[in-house]
Amino acid sequence: RAKETGKARALVYSPALAGPPQHDISLEAAMFQAVREGEFLLYYQPIVDAHTREIQGFETLMRWKHPTLGMVPPARFIPIAETNGLINLLGAWALKAACVQLKQFEEVAKRSLYISVNISPRQFRNDKFLDVLDDAIAFSGLLGEQLVLEITEGTLMIDPVHAESILSKMAERKARIAIDDFGTGYSSLAYLKRFPISVLKIDRTFIRDLPGSAKDGAICNAVLDLAKHLDLSVVAEGVETEEQLQYLEERGCQYIQGYLTGKPMAANVALAALKESIHAKLVPAELRQVAQ
Ligand code: C2E
Ligand code: MG
Ligand code: MG
Ligand code: MG
Repeated sequence: RAKETGKARALVYSPALAGPPQHDISLEAAMFQAVREGEFLLYYQPIVDAHTREIQGFETLMRWKHPTLGMVPPARFIPIAETNGLINLLGAWALKAACVQLKQFEEVAKRSLYISVNISPRQFRNDKFLDVLDDAIAFSGLLGEQLVLEITEGTLMIDPVHAESILSKMAERKARIAIDDFGTGYSSLAYLKRFPISVLKIDRTFIRDLPGSAKDGAICNAVLDLAKHLDLSVVAEGVETEEQLQYLEERGCQYIQGYLTGKPMAANVALAALKESIHAKLVPAELRQVAQ
């Protein structure tokens, strides 16, 4: 009897049914302290060309380096920041800092790159969002087209009329919109027609079991086909093996992001990776000069 009650309770209180999860109050208090202490930082994960593996851009991923807890993953702190509104402050900082950082990446790489930044639902709906965007572009001196803003299907669906107006204003600034975790949200494909979207990021859960899973293969193929006909770029997320990369590349996936081609890294590590890639390219030219 007691066991039965226990089971019923477990069902009633399962996170999916109980609404928003209960947040850890002490973690929340620590977050405000962390903002004052400057404990948040940005990591950068390369997005590479599937064929050449050359870095085309980076996704900015926020990290919280707590003095005693260590690295707190965004899956733990972003939902809290989303609930208490701190995401507006953190998100504005991340956007501006990432744009400035991209300038330094470009100086070292000696070519044009792009930066992809996650925008949470609350940030997207915030009145000040377009000002924050304009400030980041103006302050850094980036071109709008070098900026990709990652939003989820859910963000678009909360208020499609408002979303349409914000997206058209982003498009005026030439910033591109990527749908993050594509295929995992509750939405209809009609929004691909309605909104000015440029990039689909295939969620990691569809990549993980490639090339063995026929179902995941079918989903990836369908997304690639859809993207081709709608003239959208595709980034495959969470690519961890050569087999996955090869499978995707053979099917026309142009961009790859995953541990195989680069984990999220601190800015100085990303700079070193960019430097190394120029050296790798310079070698043959220098050898040619020596030979002449
Ligand atoms: P996301 O935007 O879908 O980011 C991709 C996540 O996949 C990152 O997790 C990244 O580290 C992870 N990942 C990349 N390649 C691989 C791989 O090959 N294998 C595996 N297992 N994982 C891989 P991370 O950094 O923990 O971020 C989790 C989520 O937190 C992000 O998912 C995003 O939704 C959110 N987030 C991170 N930074 C920010 C931010 O600055 N602002 C907002 N609003 N959300 C952020
Ligand atoms: Mg993302
Ligand atoms: Mg994603
Ligand atoms: Mg994801």
